[in-house]
Amino acid sequence: MSQKIRLAERPYVSIQGEGVHTGRSMLFVRLSGCRTSCWWCDTRYAQELWQTFDPETLWKLIEGFNCKDVWLTGGEPLDQADALLPLIEATHCNVNWYLCTSGTTFSDTVLKLVDNVWWVTIDYKLRSALAKQATDLRFVNSVAAKKGSQMEIKFVVGRVEDFTEIQELLNGRPDFREHAVIQPMYDPVTMKPLQTKVFAEHFIREFRNSGVRFMLQQHKHIWPGVKRGV
Ligand code: SF4
Repeated sequence: MSQKIRLAERPYVSIQGEGVHTGRSMLFVRLSGCRTSCWWCDTRYAQELWQTFDPETLWKLIEGFNCKDVWLTGGEPLDQADALLPLIEATHCNVNWYLCTSGTTFSDTVLKLVDNVWWVTIDYKLRSALAKQATDLRFVNSVAAKKGSQMEIKFVVGRVEDFTEIQELLNGRPDFREHAVIQPMYDPVTMKPLQTKVFAEHFIREFRNSGVRFMLQQHKHIWPGVKRGV
């Protein structure tokens, strides 16, 4: 293990606030840096560097929390796939690694990382995110093939038209519906969800009996206005 890993903040234990693992207590490890630049990004501070670690030192820090479930997030963890892979390969029997990624990177290293984590959450980039990089469908298809039920695809909606884009994708891959989570966009300044009732009612009309879930970000309701460390 040699390459350094860049973190955006000190790892912390909190309650998972998004997706199908909502409510579980986990250790959060937030990587520094992301090239995707979604306009609504609620972790812009992850562009800042808190500290760099060699993988052995980071592992000792993680071990000290005595948490079985470790959520790798960012920033974009896959921007540091080369540095992360040796750590994940060496420790995946000791903890459950969860990878949360925009899925905008596709390479052999990324696929090996996917093989070694317990769970993958893909934060799929809809057009309304105005992301500089799109989610790579080769990545999405590979994760689905490799992880089976141990994955989810999260869609952040900011306008009603986003539902059409989601439907188009899910019509092409109906098997993704059971793994799909739709989440209203949160205003990056006020940290409050946008048009929740409108989106929820639209969801009921469009996704009835589909297996797709509609969820809020629980941690933003437990700790309103708090941007870091929750
Ligand atoms: S991919 Fe994630 S971390 Fe990167 S800009 Fe978008 S929301 Fe923020």
